[in-house]
Amino acid sequence: MTVHVAGNACLDTLYRLQRFPEPGETVVADGMAEDLGGKGLNQAVAAARVGARVRLLAAIGSDPTAESVAERLVAEGIDAAGLVRLDCPTDRSMIQVDAGGENTIVSVTGCADRFAPPQGTDLDAALKAGDLLLMQGNLRIAAVRDCFTLARKRGAGTVLNPSPIRDSYAGVLPLTDLLVVNRGEACRLGGDTDPHAAAQALLRRGTSMVVVTLGAAGASLITADGRKDYSAPAVTAIDTAGAGDLLCGVLAGLLDRGIPVEAALPVAIRAAAIGVTRTGVLSSFPTRAEIAAILPPSLARGGAER
Ligand code: ATP
Repeated sequence: MTVHVAGNACLDTLYRLQRFPEPGETVVADGMAEDLGGKGLNQAVAAARVGARVRLLAAIGSDPTAESVAERLVAEGIDAAGLVRLDCPTDRSMIQVDAGGENTIVSVTGCADRFAPPQGTDLDAALKAGDLLLMQGNLRIAAVRDCFTLARKRGAGTVLNPSPIRDSYAGVLPLTDLLVVNRGEACRLGGDTDPHAAAQALLRRGTSMVVVTLGAAGASLITADGRKDYSAPAVTAIDTAGAGDLLCGVLAGLLDRGIPVEAALPVAIRAAAIGVTRTGVLSSFPTRAEIAAILPPSLARGGAER
């Protein structure tokens, strides 16, 4: 089976500053780092490192960054045939982090804004019964709805990580098998200050299962059968950026490999706990070998080498 990730890919440039510049002021950065990112690309990489067969559908530009995205997918063993090239710059984010760890982000999202799958993509031909379709909040809500509608018709599973939140997702929740949200997203979408009560509300709006991620406290799985809490290993977290993408991608990869969600979620939590002990987003993700070491025994034998 295949995990089809329909989302975005971009280049993140991070500047470390003592303090943010005032309007009209120039400040000299202490350092900078550049890496590919975007929630779609991040989650595709995480799913691939579990050993799942993964395709990324994303719009990229016609510039050297676009080539870097395509090369990175190939290096990760991800099918890049679903990339769509547009006549514009590949999306970018400029992230400034000050000495206190506060950040500001400026994004250019021309590619993601113009990307409206399944139109203009090969998803219709590629999606098969038993596959998994994973989407995030970077694309327009109509694209999520149309892709999930197609997945339902095909008999493919659907996983939604609605970040950044664009909408109430009212029309999409009944098409969603698994909703993955952090504490804030659960509360905002579910309309309750308690994330577990909010998750119950989201179940009533039609999604079959909800995973609420709770940072250092781990995550909860909420289904019609009730709630199960999973703790995270105690680690010294130095940078949690991308932890949600890592958890979501690993979880989707394991589900696609036939692991039940109750067994997949603790593995995804452990993988995310490795990621928060390192800096960066993609650069913090555990390797295939590191993920293989925490896979259930049934998958561990050569499991992350597919
Ligand atoms: P982000 O936006 O930073 O990518 P998020 O808000 O989407 O993350 P979180 O709930 O903060 O998601 O974290 C996702 C998962 O990462 C958690 O469920 C947990 O497994 C792991 N994690 C995050 N912070 C910690 C921590 N301090 N210690 C151990 N694990 C952590």
